Amino acid sequence: MASLKNKKAVASSKKDDTNSDVPEGEDKEFCPGYKDVDDFVKYGLGSVLLATKASGGLPQAGDDFDFYRSFPGFQEFCEVQGDQLLLCMSQIMQHHSCRSRMRDCDKLTGLEERFDLVVDSNDVILEKVGILLDEADGVNRSQQPVMPAGFQPPKIVISSWNRKGSSSGSRSETFRLLQAKNIQRPQLKFKEKVDNSNTPFIPKIFIKPNALKPLPSYFTTKHMRKERPEDLDVPAALADFIHHQRTQEHIEDMFAHPYQFELDHLTVPDSLLSKTEPKMYKPIEETPCSFIETLEDLVALSEKLNEVSEFAVDLEHHSYRSFLGVTCLMQISTREQDFIIDTLELRSEMYILNESFTNPSTVKVFHGADSDIEWLQRDFGLYVVNLFDTHQASRVLNLARNSLDHLLKHYCGTDADKRYQLADWRIRPLPDEMAHYARSDTHYLLYIYDCMKAELLDFNHGQPGLLQSVWNKSKDISLKKYAKPIFTEESYLEVQKKQKRSFNTQQLAAFRLLFAWRDKLARQEDESTGYVLPAHMMIKISEELPKEPQGIIACCNPVPPMVRQQVNELHLLVQEAREMPLLKVEIATPKTKGLAPTRTTKVTLFGPHDTSRVHIADDELPVKQGVLFSDDDHKSDTDVEKIRSLVASAKITLFEEPVAKEILESLSVAQMKARRIIESFENPFRMYLPSSGVHVNENAKSDPSSKIFEISQRWKLRTMEQQQRELELAKKAKEEAKQQAKKAAEERRKAKESYKESLQNVATVRQQAAECAKVDGKKRERVPSEPGESTPKPSKKLKSAEKKKTKASPQESFKPFDYSQSDLKVFSDTKSKDNSQFDPNRQACDPKKKKMAGGKKSHSGAGNRSMSYLAGTSNRGFRHNWPKR
Ligand code: AMP
Ligand code: MN
Ligand code: ZN
Repeated sequence: MASLKNKKAVASSKKDDTNSDVPEGEDKEFCPGYKDVDDFVKYGLGSVLLATKASGGLPQAGDDFDFYRSFPGFQEFCEVQGDQLLLCMSQIMQHHSCRSRMRDCDKLTGLEERFDLVVDSNDVILEKVGILLDEADGVNRSQQPVMPAGFQPPKIVISSWNRKGSSSGSRSETFRLLQAKNIQRPQLKFKEKVDNSNTPFIPKIFIKPNALKPLPSYFTTKHMRKERPEDLDVPAALADFIHHQRTQEHIEDMFAHPYQFELDHLTVPDSLLSKTEPKMYKPIEETPCSFIETLEDLVALSEKLNEVSEFAVDLEHHSYRSFLGVTCLMQISTREQDFIIDTLELRSEMYILNESFTNPSTVKVFHGADSDIEWLQRDFGLYVVNLFDTHQASRVLNLARNSLDHLLKHYCGTDADKRYQLADWRIRPLPDEMAHYARSDTHYLLYIYDCMKAELLDFNHGQPGLLQSVWNKSKDISLKKYAKPIFTEESYLEVQKKQKRSFNTQQLAAFRLLFAWRDKLARQEDESTGYVLPAHMMIKISEELPKEPQGIIACCNPVPPMVRQQVNELHLLVQEAREMPLLKVEIATPKTKGLAPTRTTKVTLFGPHDTSRVHIADDELPVKQGVLFSDDDHKSDTDVEKIRSLVASAKITLFEEPVAKEILESLSVAQMKARRIIESFENPFRMYLPSSGVHVNENAKSDPSSKIFEISQRWKLRTMEQQQRELELAKKAKEEAKQQAKKAAEERRKAKESYKESLQNVATVRQQAAECAKVDGKKRERVPSEPGESTPKPSKKLKSAEKKKTKASPQESFKPFDYSQSDLKVFSDTKSKDNSQFDPNRQACDPKKKKMAGGKKSHSGAGNRSMSYLAGTSNRGFRHNWPKR
């Protein structure tokens, strides 16, 4: 097992500090003659080494070899050995179902053919190895059937992967992948449909408990804005974004951390900085564990949490069959009790926990909260004020390892069982063993927190410095903001650069097209990009540029369902790439291995329509590309620049669409089709770019019946004066807001009032729960809502019982918003303002360089601190690869 781990590490060179405990005491033989994998691998490597040495000792080709060859004995020996080797190779190939006619090749051309056979077989075998390693790494490639909407699987089948032996209870399994086939997609039940649009994430929060600063009106009035006519065909987030971008209202609010002010003003009370005796955890068998799947129970839990002074939290997550990922479970442990919340069931109600999660006098203990903080925001609109992250504590204490299983061993003497970490957490009902695993993730955490606090003080001779630094680091983590993965015309280069291969222009073009196809499909079907087309297959197709659709299939093993479905589209993309002029493009991989790489994402004046980037004019000099979105320094990245200088035409014409008729006419059928596919990828923010030509989607523009056409006309009627007036109003409002910010004391009072008010308008959650329980007896049915509908105000919940009867069934499949049908540039008659240009990376990337729209700082006091924090941790916030890990 240990060596399997090593191999994994070599193959993926991925840091994995979790599953790193090596189980001891395996007495069963791994395979006849070998005690364990280690033993077997050692033997295998030894044999390979010997063989390599022996082949190195053979007489060199040429004179040496010819001389020896003149001895009949040598000749005979060679033939016998050669035959044996060929037989052996044939058998290996047959075993892997490869072509294997090694021995009966014609003597003359045979060598070449045999060599090809070996190369092909090696590819197949290594591919299989790659798949198995990936699977072991948590990337599940098993083909799961695409479920028709509403299909109820008769029974959940649970199967496990790599379970070794039958030694029940023994620690011989390093990890287990629990997979259930035919799991109904939890997304189908979500009240608020998932918004996979290529737009930045806007916080879900609409009610703000424990506020020191009131929630901006943008969030509290969300429900009213739905009436805007121009929003009809556009996802809510995008509609809001467009509206506010136009009016310059709320832009700061939309991307700010809703609890920034509170976190900036959070001070750790002395009681949390002084020594207390660690309180031992209750044995797990004596601790009650509740599974929470109704609003009523959730409310009861919320009230319990309001009364304790600390509790531990963890989440389980699924990322393979969803574009953004879904939080499947939340585990909470108090000193007395464990809770497991079905967050698939209670997704839209989870926000009520903000009451305790943002209560500054309750400590929330997490282990390695980085992802959790983002998932909480993304799925539930939950924030954490007063976080203690035991992972950070472990780092400050300089422990041997910082994983939870190590802490469990170190402080509690328990052997952590991280085997279920990679299970499919969507499985319902939750199997007992998974529930047990989940609760043990938080059960011991409060005791560990106690111990670590004491140790941090001891370590520093009773001085609170170290402990304080852990609180600060934890606060930094709770200040993290979730950022949606944004597709830009440059995204593919980032991924491509990671591959240590050099692509020629055709291969690079294919990669770019496949990458865009994959992103679009993943968003549309709500699948991870890895499910649609794993990166290594994308690389392989780009490398091979198969001439036939069958060749594309051959590059994929197993063939992803969507590749099979759309193989013809893919084939056209590949064909399009093949029609590029062939040139070698060198992409040097960065040599600075240990150093943090400088972020190179820059959104330049390239668009997916721009086929010019792969055409190379001989004497064209690299010209600096204009940076549209980023405020980054124009540090040139040599690699990317190198490619650009090769593949890009240096004109700033990207967003000027007009393509000469002759060019269009000269395109082949494949090119035309590919162009159409690419054309459906539109930068929804293109209208904010300074462009002379207004880009209008051809379909929508020419179809007067389309909503977009109508909206476009409506917008066009707006006069410039109107817009000017709006701008002025917005400016005034901003000025006022600024003055308000100065009166902090008044604010506080207001905040409390506003929160109280909102509570008054809204039935208390307790009441809601009671109401709900009254209306529908026990388990509530889901109330499906329109795509893009924002989280309902609590008051709505009271009506949910009546509503649900009239609304469509939850199984009604999610129809993702189709950008290709909409013309987002209809608004482009707005004057573009430089300072208001949207940077899709802005919310995620280095905010030190970020200027708020309008060039003003957000909140005088609060702003500075956040800036300095974020500046130092910019690399953490940016995550382009999704799903992560
Ligand atoms: P944990 O905090 O260890 O319970 O992990 C929370 C979630 O993170 C799990 O449910 C997984 O979805 C994901 N996760 C944790 N570790 C890994 C890993 N090594 N590879 C992939 N996903 C992981
Ligand atoms: Mn966790
Ligand atoms: Zn966990």
